[in-house]
Amino acid sequence: MQINVSQQLKAPMGSIRDYEVSEIIDIAGDDGGNMVQGKVRLMRTNRGILTKGTLHTEVEITCCRCLSLFSCPLALNVEEEYFPTKDMFSGASLPLPDEPVCFTIDEHHILDLTEAIRQNALLTIPMKPLCREDCAGLCPNCGHNLNHGPCGCLPREADSRWSRLNKLASASDVLVNKVKGTK
Ligand SMILES: [Zn+2]
Ligand SMILES: [Zn+2]
Repeated sequence: MQINVSQQLKAPMGSIRDYEVSEIIDIAGDDGGNMVQGKVRLMRTNRGILTKGTLHTEVEITCCRCLSLFSCPLALNVEEEYFPTKDMFSGASLPLPDEPVCFTIDEHHILDLTEAIRQNALLTIPMKPLCREDCAGLCPNCGHNLNHGPCGCLPREADSRWSRLNKLASASDVLVNKVKGTK
């Protein structure tokens, strides 16, 4: 997603250009890329160009509960300032600001949004993605995907959990009785 900003770098501070984004960007680096769409506003600042916009894309990720692949929609709020590396008028190299992450406009006055969009998308992907809010997950016994209906072993599993709980409960009763008895 490359934009030539040579005209805007010559423009006074505060001048604005709006862009429609509709591009394939390789977000995760392992498939054919992801369609990214939305609007970006470019504003001339005293230091460079501020990009700001809301973009939408979808990534294929694995549900953390049922382990199936699903398409997860992402809303990206991109806001990055880009700094020119060459002075627009004299052509002299410009020093970059002392910031840990710094996006630059290259010597041909090209501002490339790809990396900012990619980084933003990676941060937006949920840590524990769910294919749907109420994903039923996998049976811990047989591995059956419970979103496709129940499996045979579910009731027995529940029974054994209850009987274990009951045993625990009666054991603590005995303990309580013992303590009471010693008084
Ligand atoms: Zn799931
Ligand atoms: Zn099962």
